[in-house]
Amino acid sequence: MIPIDAAVMLTARRQSLWRYFRSAWVQFSIGAVFLIATNLMALRIPRQVGRSIGHLRDAKTLADIDVALVEGFAWTIAGLALGAACARIFSRIFVFNAARRIEYDLRNELFAHLTRLDLPFFQRSATGDLVSRITNDVTYIRLLYGISVLHAVNTTVAYIIVLGLMTSVSSKLTLYALAPYPLFLLTIGWFTQAIYKRTQAAQETLSDVSARAQENLAGVSVIKAFNSQEREKAAFRKVSDQYLERNLALARVRGALNPYMASIGGVGTLLVLWLGGQEVIDGTLTLGQYVEFSGYIVALAFPTIAMGWVVSVWNRGVAAMDRLLHILHAQPNVTQDPDAAPIDPDKPLGDLVFEDVTLAYEDGTVALEDINLTIPQGARVAIVGRTGSGKSTLVHLIPRLRDPTKGRITLGGKPLQKLELVGLRSQIGYVPQDPFLFSMSIEDNVRLGQHEGSDTGPGLKKALQIAHIGHDLEAMPQGLQTMVGERGITLSGGQKQRLTIARAVLLDPRLLILDDALASVDAATERQIITELDRIMEGRTSILVTHRYNALESVDEIVALDQGRTVQQGSHPAPPNPPAPSPPPP
Ligand code: ATP
Ligand code: MG
Repeated sequence: MIPIDAAVMLTARRQSLWRYFRSAWVQFSIGAVFLIATNLMALRIPRQVGRSIGHLRDAKTLADIDVALVEGFAWTIAGLALGAACARIFSRIFVFNAARRIEYDLRNELFAHLTRLDLPFFQRSATGDLVSRITNDVTYIRLLYGISVLHAVNTTVAYIIVLGLMTSVSSKLTLYALAPYPLFLLTIGWFTQAIYKRTQAAQETLSDVSARAQENLAGVSVIKAFNSQEREKAAFRKVSDQYLERNLALARVRGALNPYMASIGGVGTLLVLWLGGQEVIDGTLTLGQYVEFSGYIVALAFPTIAMGWVVSVWNRGVAAMDRLLHILHAQPNVTQDPDAAPIDPDKPLGDLVFEDVTLAYEDGTVALEDINLTIPQGARVAIVGRTGSGKSTLVHLIPRLRDPTKGRITLGGKPLQKLELVGLRSQIGYVPQDPFLFSMSIEDNVRLGQHEGSDTGPGLKKALQIAHIGHDLEAMPQGLQTMVGERGITLSGGQKQRLTIARAVLLDPRLLILDDALASVDAATERQIITELDRIMEGRTSILVTHRYNALESVDEIVALDQGRTVQQGSHPAPPNPPAPSPPPP
């Protein structure tokens, strides 16, 4: 992740927290009204208790006790307690629902944003880390808007009401009760910082744990084949231990905070009991008033402890928000110009021209250097070159999976940036070197790029036939509806490749790119597929990245790359300088 400047982060954090709060302000407001109601009711109880005790205390004999009055107090207390409980339940329903809603919106927003980002971002970020952020960190945001907001409002309301009531009984005792609070104000900054930093550290290690688990599960067959389970287990335990340690460090601060808050309240209570008791003995305070005041102190105990939760859950949420802002603030490099034009579907695409194109990866590897290349409209071009020479990098630039670092690419005379990105990509059938299938049915995988109104192509049956996959499908129990496991694990390499070819062909593309897409297919099938492709791509542009000579028979032009530079351009029958084979293993 790219670091964000502290001041920018602070503003972004404030804005985001406020924006999500505002998005659910109606529920929060209703929740707050219920919180005020519950406190107004619950905090009237001490006065009722105080009065009834006062009445009992004043009675000299049993006959002096007004039973109806005492019963009245009892019923009022019961009614107030019931009303307060109901209002509290409703306050939780509204606030927690709002927090769930925010969590839902935020998670969707994050995912939508991730879909807009491009390859360099994903190269910098581990998948496990991203997954951890959009699952765990988002949960902390829910707690921030749920528990933390609820208790922040509740504690504030309770304090305002109780301090008013306390002062009405005795302002001196109120001051005693509040005497330890300056200590809270002095120390809370330390707790805030400690919880923030320790949460950040713990969440970072959780990302490492997720990334490690994710990578190990994805590469399980390699791990088993190379007997590296023990090593991986030890490596996993190491990050896991670190996660435990960091969480314990966080738990120590969080754990200390609640008793600390309770003791701050407790010291106040002690002072009130001691000094208030003195006043009762001296006769400056009645027993009823003393009981009432003690009731208020008790009523403040929970909100005071809850203040500790607010501080801890809030700061955990803030740390999580900062981690999420690293995703939300990442911007795609590949964007279209504001005046980008749609591609006219009735006109040929035109020539594809590379002008002094250089591409350096984020780690500094220069994969392409000063490429000048023209792929004429309707041509069949092969790109050859030894492994690592930059062929895949070159074809990535055409659907703009990346943009060149220098130079430009034009299509039909227009720079690619000036063409609508979705429109451009919909014209291109791209078959990547590593075929990727999603864990869904074969049909859904093949129809992946097909959207409403885009089913004008050869049709599913024909696409499957061109890709020579029909035979394999017949052998599958559920044919097209067969579910392929994660990443297409249940299929052979050649089957995956041919399905990704069918996927590209189905879009009826005007520019077809096959990046070594027939490497896992036998030579005879390869020849048949190429013949079929040549037929349907008649008059359209095809780019074939290949290592195989028999694939070169039908092409119009061959471009040879070496170390990111074009070394030869020529036409069939034979490449002027056949691509050098990969160096033999040492
Ligand atoms: P192959 O025939 O093996 O598929 P290729 O010609 O397609 O090779 P590319 O994948 O384009 O080669 O890679 C060109 C160079 O760029 C290589 O040196 C490679 O190590 C480097 N490279 C590729 N992808 C990245 C990346 N994401 N980050 C950094 N360097 C990369
Ligand atoms: Mg490649």
